[in-house]
Amino acid sequence: MAKDLFVGVDIGGTKIAAALVSGRGKILARGKETTPRGVGPKRIVKAVEALIKAVVAEGGYRLKDVRGVGIGAPGLVDPEGRKILAAPNIKLAGFPVVAWLEKRLGADVVMGNDVNVGVMGEQWLGAGKGAQNVVGLFPGTGVGGGVIADGRLLLGAHGAAAELGHIVVDPKGPLCGCGNRGCLEALASRTAIERDIRAAIAKGQRSVVSELTNGKLGVIKSKVLAKALKRKDAVVTRVMRSAAEALGAACVDLRHVFDPERIILGGGVIEACGDFILPIVQKRIDRDPFFKKVGACEAVPSQLGDDAVILGGVALTKRL
Ligand SMILES: [Zn+2]
Repeated sequence: MAKDLFVGVDIGGTKIAAALVSGRGKILARGKETTPRGVGPKRIVKAVEALIKAVVAEGGYRLKDVRGVGIGAPGLVDPEGRKILAAPNIKLAGFPVVAWLEKRLGADVVMGNDVNVGVMGEQWLGAGKGAQNVVGLFPGTGVGGGVIADGRLLLGAHGAAAELGHIVVDPKGPLCGCGNRGCLEALASRTAIERDIRAAIAKGQRSVVSELTNGKLGVIKSKVLAKALKRKDAVVTRVMRSAAEALGAACVDLRHVFDPERIILGGGVIEACGDFILPIVQKRIDRDPFFKKVGACEAVPSQLGDDAVILGGVALTKRL
């Protein structure tokens, strides 16, 4: 007889993390593994299987004690949560991940897009606790998004709903990787911030970023951005303000579509620079005259960090 135990799994392009979790969300055992690279999908899913078995054993239980396994995967997951339809950063597209694992584990398995699943985790136990309408925005290399509307995770006809990084904020803005112009991702991702800082420096503007990166401007980490903000660097302050304004503009639009109680912002840039970004976003939200008499919407930082996807995976299986 299965106990009130679940396994949450976060499959990433560089690492796979899993944990054995109680029905109340207490993490009982955890494990981590490097994602096998340059191999086919079966080898990757085998690594997932081994990690699931390891965390169950580590917690002192057996597979038959587990009620369900919930997975967050990077890519487009079909609305039934069985298959990855497209994944740019990992070789899993088309492989029957869930059916294969169910057969090997003898447990119910369900899967979702990692950002969507992360928002579910935040709604269950983190920054979205108690709210039925939550939007998540996660600026990083791109901008990930997830929406819970009236208590339900929004999936769309093809599982591609809530790809919020590609909502157009400025139709005349810079070209985005997706082919459109002025997407949120082209204005507020770390990649976009890096691009604008590099352009300013190339034009001869002075920035502490040159010194902080030893002139290696290829990758400008979130921590470097935070340090530059603290030192009131003019270039970084201007670029980050403009990225925050773009996030704020997107939040206003998202609010008009979903009327969320909370908009959760997370990811590396927010963890490092949230104190600078969040007030700008909140100000933009509060300026919207339409909602003045309707009610508030709070922009809040995510709370669960790396555990959001693992716990969200559990939230997903609990709904089965
Ligand atoms: Zn785009």
